[in-house]
Amino acid sequence: MSSVTSTSALPGPERQGGPIYLLTIKHLECQANFAWSSRHPRTQRTTEAHVKDTTTPHVIVIGGGTGGLCLAHGLKRAGVSVRVYERDRTRADGVQGYRVGIDPDGSRALKACLSPDLFDTFVATCARTASYFCIRTEQLKESLTLELHPPTDPVNSEKSVSRMTLRQVLVTGVEDVVEFGKVFTHYEQNDDGTVTAFFEDGTSATGDVLVAADGSNSRVRRQYLPHATVQEAGVIAVTCKVPLTDESRALLPREVTQGIGLVMAPRGYTCILHTMEFPWDREGELKHGIGNTDAELIKNWPGLLYDNTRDYINWGFNAATRQFPSDVMQMRGKELIDLVLRMTPGWAPQLHQLFRMGDPSTCFPIKVHTTEPVPQWRTTNVTLLGDAIHTMTPGMGVGANTALRDAALLTKNLTAVSKGSMTLHDAVHDYETQMVEYGFKAVLDSRKNFSGDQVVHRDVLGRVALVGMRAGLWALNHLPPAKRKMADKLYEYRGGERE
Ligand SMILES: Cc1cc2nc3c(=O)[nH]c(=O)nc-3n(C[C@H](O)[C@H](O)[C@H](O)COP(=O)(O)OP(=O)(O)OC[C@H]3O[C@@H](n4cnc5c(N)ncnc54)[C@H](O)[C@@H]3O)c2cc1C
Repeated sequence: MSSVTSTSALPGPERQGGPIYLLTIKHLECQANFAWSSRHPRTQRTTEAHVKDTTTPHVIVIGGGTGGLCLAHGLKRAGVSVRVYERDRTRADGVQGYRVGIDPDGSRALKACLSPDLFDTFVATCARTASYFCIRTEQLKESLTLELHPPTDPVNSEKSVSRMTLRQVLVTGVEDVVEFGKVFTHYEQNDDGTVTAFFEDGTSATGDVLVAADGSNSRVRRQYLPHATVQEAGVIAVTCKVPLTDESRALLPREVTQGIGLVMAPRGYTCILHTMEFPWDREGELKHGIGNTDAELIKNWPGLLYDNTRDYINWGFNAATRQFPSDVMQMRGKELIDLVLRMTPGWAPQLHQLFRMGDPSTCFPIKVHTTEPVPQWRTTNVTLLGDAIHTMTPGMGVGANTALRDAALLTKNLTAVSKGSMTLHDAVHDYETQMVEYGFKAVLDSRKNFSGDQVVHRDVLGRVALVGMRAGLWALNHLPPAKRKMADKLYEYRGGERE
């Protein structure tokens, strides 16, 4: 039997990687310095043990989250046999966190895997696009206001989506291949090259490939690659939703409510601010002014029935773990809001008012995690995608996007198997070779941009760093060509120019 420890007892937010889409000036530094592949040469193909030679593979996916469901769409559309096993009991259970930023990489993957109609529905159900990225002091004084690339087309653009809405879009159309209430316990690789997954309810499922898409606490990873560990990143985030009203909107500068706001304060404290406005109103009815095509798509989309998302401002307060009381992970609701208020004396009254207006039932702490990259392993009939193999901090806002990218690449390779142009072994091996490279690069970039080790969290050096950073941002803010260049680099990093 399995020796894998249970993860289902963990509080929901701790199952996830991190809360925010955090962009800082450091993005510029993160691009050229990934030396993973040179330090860890790719493994050579050694054996085909545990991989069946078949052109009609049956794929078992453990976990119906962002990556697993996208993969299910891609495979189903390509005619590859697939079945997803998800531990949540229903399609609306278990979704933690509020907003996900989908970048061009993520959109490209969704475009490749979803049916054209469903992709259009995904675009139509996104929140209003952020026009700015604004860095402010804790007094809400401007440090930098960056105009983001306008949404030129549905793929090469940034989108803000509610996590619940994305889950509902991704479940639509694959209801027949997703089994809810299936808690995976362990797998066994069989002599005939198949692999069998076992579930807590005593049932099992056998396929030719097993894909771990079971998130950062992946039981598959613990069994398959026990040396690939997930660690605390030394940062805790407290996240909360404030209903969007005239009163709450008036608390923030216009560019912040029309974009993404980041408050950078002493002691390494930060607060991310997302204003999410959807095409439907409080009653779930379409708002005025929604284009005919979008209105039609949303009206015909069954997912809205399960989606209770309404307009809101999401604030996420972040600080090094050591700055919080030791029992912070047990705190919820008002107790947590009061803690954030106590930790931020001297912050602008508008920010305090916004914290106070947070709906206590939506306030929870998240311990941010990261992965230690491992060298590529020998290919078998078990593989992994998304947080199951590359949990990352929210430093670059690409955790979900990288999971989607994995799903699209794996779909492409498994489709090639069904067309006879790749063996199953080579399809998995090629996927892992590429994924290990870009996935662990994203892990390291994200950690560099957001972790408890950053100098801003230190007492004296941190203050000096903040003064230097503010001076740099102030100068940049007065140099429009440099700002445009920064916006271009961000766009490129997030897949804007990738094929
Ligand atoms: C609050 C928050 C905000 C975020 N914002 C962003 C963002 O802006 N941009 C971005 O790119 N990323 C963001 N991320 C990260 C992103 O959500 C993850 O990287 C992404 O969801 C990973 O997708 P996944 O499919 O690998 O895992 P998940 O989406 O976590 O899915 C894993 C699935 O596996 C299921 N599962 C787990 N264990 C079992 C089991 N034993 N048996 C069966 N099923 C199981 C889970 O229930 C879940 O449905 C954010 C994360 C959080 C928590």
